[in-house]
Amino acid sequence: MFLSELSAAINKLTGAGPAAVKALGALGIHSVGRLLQHYPREYEDRKHQVTLRQALSGAPASCAIRVVSQTWFGMKPRQTLKVQIEDTEGTEAVLVCFNRPFLKDKLKPGSRWYIYGSFKMSFQEIQSSMFDVEPLGEEDISAHSGLILPVYPLSSGLHQGTLRKLMKEALKQAEHLEDDIPRSLKDKYRLLSLSQALHSIHFPEELPEAQAARRTLVYREFFHLQMAVRQRSKPYAAEQRPTLVLPQDLKKELIDRLPFSLTPDQLQVIAEIEGDLKSSRPMSRLLQGDVGSGKTLVAFISSLGLIRLGHQAAMLAPTELLALQHAENAAKYLDPLGVKIAFLSGNIKAAGRSHLLKELKEGRIDFVVGTHALFSADVEYKSLRYVVVDEQHRFGVEQRRSLLSKGQTPDLLLMSATPIPRTLAQTAFGDLEVSLIKTLPPGRKPIETHLALQSKLKKVTDFVARELASGRQAYFVYPLIEASESVDLKDAQSAFEHLQQDFPGYRLALLHSKVDEDTKKCTMEAFSRGEIHILVATSVVEVGVDVPNATCMVIEHAERFGLSALHQLRGRVGRGNHQSYCFLVYADGLTEEGKQRLLVMKNTTDGFVIAEEDLKLRGPGEILGVRQSGYMKLSIADLEKDARVLEVAQADVKKILAEDPGLLQPENQILFRLQQKAPVFSPELVASG
Ligand code: ADP
Ligand code: MG
Repeated sequence: MFLSELSAAINKLTGAGPAAVKALGALGIHSVGRLLQHYPREYEDRKHQVTLRQALSGAPASCAIRVVSQTWFGMKPRQTLKVQIEDTEGTEAVLVCFNRPFLKDKLKPGSRWYIYGSFKMSFQEIQSSMFDVEPLGEEDISAHSGLILPVYPLSSGLHQGTLRKLMKEALKQAEHLEDDIPRSLKDKYRLLSLSQALHSIHFPEELPEAQAARRTLVYREFFHLQMAVRQRSKPYAAEQRPTLVLPQDLKKELIDRLPFSLTPDQLQVIAEIEGDLKSSRPMSRLLQGDVGSGKTLVAFISSLGLIRLGHQAAMLAPTELLALQHAENAAKYLDPLGVKIAFLSGNIKAAGRSHLLKELKEGRIDFVVGTHALFSADVEYKSLRYVVVDEQHRFGVEQRRSLLSKGQTPDLLLMSATPIPRTLAQTAFGDLEVSLIKTLPPGRKPIETHLALQSKLKKVTDFVARELASGRQAYFVYPLIEASESVDLKDAQSAFEHLQQDFPGYRLALLHSKVDEDTKKCTMEAFSRGEIHILVATSVVEVGVDVPNATCMVIEHAERFGLSALHQLRGRVGRGNHQSYCFLVYADGLTEEGKQRLLVMKNTTDGFVIAEEDLKLRGPGEILGVRQSGYMKLSIADLEKDARVLEVAQADVKKILAEDPGLLQPENQILFRLQQKAPVFSPELVASG
């Protein structure tokens, strides 16, 4: 039996009441197998007793004490109980029982207890107000005292005690699990058996035992993730084709015509791409760079050698608007070189479309830019050799594949302005190479970012008014399209009406996903010509809109957006010569934690730093833009902390698949059976080139 085959429902466990089942459901836990992979975030060491003096070091600890006396302080009827205690050394301390008056019946003078809590000096006494008590005495030692107890992440309605009991029940079913790592690797790294590791991670006898269990489980998780990723990307990368010599003349001509010089990063990346294009192995490369760092231009330039040899290139964009913008740029840069450009979207109808398809098929178009329409069934290419996918995370694996299948082993360049931390990119994409543009073109002024309380919004709008008065434009962004009864958040529709009153004499427009494509396009064009002054929007402006004259980005309920989304939104300004500003307006009741998160935005403009923060806060699936359950949900491994283990697991998987791609050797049979019966990560959900 493999772990993921423990599919019995949680409510079959003894002691699983409806409330617990519901609360676990909220955590995505429905089966026993899944429950066992809900790992403790820390442990309470109630096993090793310390003295009160030692407990003063700050960390929660367990002490054996005797109650000396009780007193009360504060005004009736809300008096607070204080309990004087002493330990075996005779050190005295005080338990302050806020909101726990009932402890008076329990903590009677003379009685003995284990106290688990953290102690500090205040008012010249050793005090604790956060503590648990367990009886101490020969007969009535409860099941929980004197142990190392797991502390789990909870959802509302779930208690540590309940979860611990359920976990004990679940572990009974895991006593004879089959190991799912090949024997030789288990031996090499001295890993525990899976059953043992699960037992030790949940209920270790000693803390080092939990650490050993974690080591085993982290390796196991990375190993299986890599297995899924690599197997997914292997068939394509293995194909071969003749090497090429890339003519440089068109490329030189374009570079000479540019009114600026390419940045060193751009030159470097172009060289990296050309190295791949020439080689016998099809390229799978991820190009990362902040918005405005010049990725699109790199894609254009790097296509010219292939085009010169008579091949075709296709650039795929997630929205019509963005595709159009790319097509315009392509026309600007490539037309003068004699490169034939076309634009294809779902909105191009009948006659125009069939003509265009014919031209593509007969090879009279060199560079086509478009949306999903690029891989419709009836689109054929004469010689599609280069596929560029902008904002790659907006597309699924299947969509990229269907475009790739229209050429013979074409080269693939994925572009992303959502910086994906290196470890994550490796994990998610397996064999993908990564190129980086780290520096923006010279002359860009860093955007000033300010945090503002909702109640101080007036200050922000006053500021925006001054910018508008000097001819600039602004974005206002909201988390909702229209007012909702279920959440108390501002929405774009209502804000649009208010802002019209706040900014008399200016033209405003509304943009969100429910606006039809034609209107969206007209709105964007008008905004980009400066005929509209304020664009009121949802995060649809996140992608690709380029209006250098816009200098203000106001994001209301900024606390509701992921950091990466905020970073993308901020990237809509600061694209011209004017100083630009981003205002993160947050709800008045925002927690300190929430505010700290927004401060990350204020303190850095480095997309990678922001992505790392986002990764810590939200997890990998979210950053990659994929939310399907089961996708990249690491339950124990930490991409940052365990990066070394990831590398080791990656190398091991690579070696296994190189030597035994079909997993046919006896040693690897277990992996084959695991994949057939109970894959740890469902392979179709793992992204890859
Ligand atoms: P990205 O695709 O990374 O968002 P683009 O390629 O669209 O960036 O470039 C953004 C803008 O910067 C474009 O107007 C482009 O012409 C310009 N640009 C690109 N490279 C440079 C450079 N090296 N120096 C100055 N401007 C540049
Ligand atoms: Mg771009």
